[in-house]
Amino acid sequence: MFDDVIWDKLNEECGVFGVFGHADAPQLTYYGIHALQHRGQESAGICASDGKNFSYHRGMGLVTEAFGNDELDHLRGHIAIGHVRYTTAGESKIENAQPLIFKYSHGNLALAHNGNLVNAKQVRHQLERQGSIFQTTSDTEVVAHLIARSGYDKIEEAVKESLRMIKGAYALLIMTEKKMIVALDPNGLRPLSLAKLGDAYVVSSETCAFDIVGATYLREVEPGEMVVIDEDGLRSERVSGNTQRAICSFEYIYFARPDSDIDGINVHTARKRLGRELAAEAPVEADVVTGVPDSSISAAIGYAEATGIPYELGLIKNRYVGRTFIQPSQELRAKGVRMKLSAVRKVVEGKRVVMIDDSIVRGTTSGRIVQMLRDAGAKEVHVRISSPPVMNSCFYGIDTSTRAELIAAKKNIEEMRQFIGADSLAFLSIDGLMRGTGRNSDHPNNGHCLACFTGQYPTEIYEEIEDESESENHCESLSKS
Ligand code: SF4
Repeated sequence: MFDDVIWDKLNEECGVFGVFGHADAPQLTYYGIHALQHRGQESAGICASDGKNFSYHRGMGLVTEAFGNDELDHLRGHIAIGHVRYTTAGESKIENAQPLIFKYSHGNLALAHNGNLVNAKQVRHQLERQGSIFQTTSDTEVVAHLIARSGYDKIEEAVKESLRMIKGAYALLIMTEKKMIVALDPNGLRPLSLAKLGDAYVVSSETCAFDIVGATYLREVEPGEMVVIDEDGLRSERVSGNTQRAICSFEYIYFARPDSDIDGINVHTARKRLGRELAAEAPVEADVVTGVPDSSISAAIGYAEATGIPYELGLIKNRYVGRTFIQPSQELRAKGVRMKLSAVRKVVEGKRVVMIDDSIVRGTTSGRIVQMLRDAGAKEVHVRISSPPVMNSCFYGIDTSTRAELIAAKKNIEEMRQFIGADSLAFLSIDGLMRGTGRNSDHPNNGHCLACFTGQYPTEIYEEIEDESESENHCESLSKS
């Protein structure tokens, strides 16, 4: 995808949305996954149930590309679950688009999953040895097979048994002809919230999708919780007694939409506070503050407010660069960045500029943006990053690149500064990050996952780790099987 080639960012894997008990459930789900489009642009899908039969459609691309009126019109029912996907586990092909649909001995089953399982390979291998045949390379299918092979007749019991066998990150929607089951992993690594729309229940990866469909926020789904919604209403059960919230810090830093709230904290407001913390930790004499659009603008506003240096739109994003634009060669990648971003000469010319970005992954894009500001006449470019250095891979559904590609795993801050060509470079500290999000929790790290910064993973890690041989700083918390 064009974006991935030129845009050096972490990528979210998926978004899920579901409705129970509304005559327009498929249409509402369409609007819901459209509001979650930023969480995945590779494929989109909706499965609906009228109480007896499933109807579904899945397609590649954006929600508007995957669905036309015809595809939406043939979806019928009062229950629906939807999904948008960005690939990190499993290949990029239609078979892996979700919701995944299965027939099993008790009827139909649809699954939509945000997150990655860390023991999917192990469970899959075991299931294959017992005779299971997998249709996809998605680790979500592992959950379906576990449910189908369970000895329990009741779907709730089968799901519970299956959830106890999987490890890692899952915000999971499971639909049968008559029920919707919602489950969150014991660390609550991915966000998942419940809302009401009249008598109907709505569930979403992010609260921004509730606003679009007019639903009223009820509460977060709790770590280790399973919620069953059927004609008798909503029931909640604890699947795991050993829960410890470790929400992905990058939901606050970069992934989630600024108009979403996570655990009651507005994402834009949290980002502004990250900017304020960054200003306190790494002030610099400068004339203007600018943010790399869109995700860094909130932090840039916070930095400007705290320092008194005026915030300006020094960088403008071109919103109309198609995802399927010609794949650029190495030498054309810099031009690719220029197609997505422009520096505003009249704002930065002759100025000392503070450029706020939310993260540095490989460092290549940061270097190009610094050069772009210099080419537009900036006298000095001081880069401030509203997160700590990303030094470790994520195993929970975020595409962080391999550790060998992460610039912060290989270079110290001065070496990174030289690499990106900035006059100065500073990152937010881990304490600053935890203060900035404003989370207040008894759980370790205030309920944040910080593993890509610290190497301390909130779960065991079972999967093989790609080429870690170059790393001098191998994380001791990893346990390979
Ligand atoms: S390792 Fe990093 S990207 Fe992955 S869930 Fe934890 S905080 Fe998020």
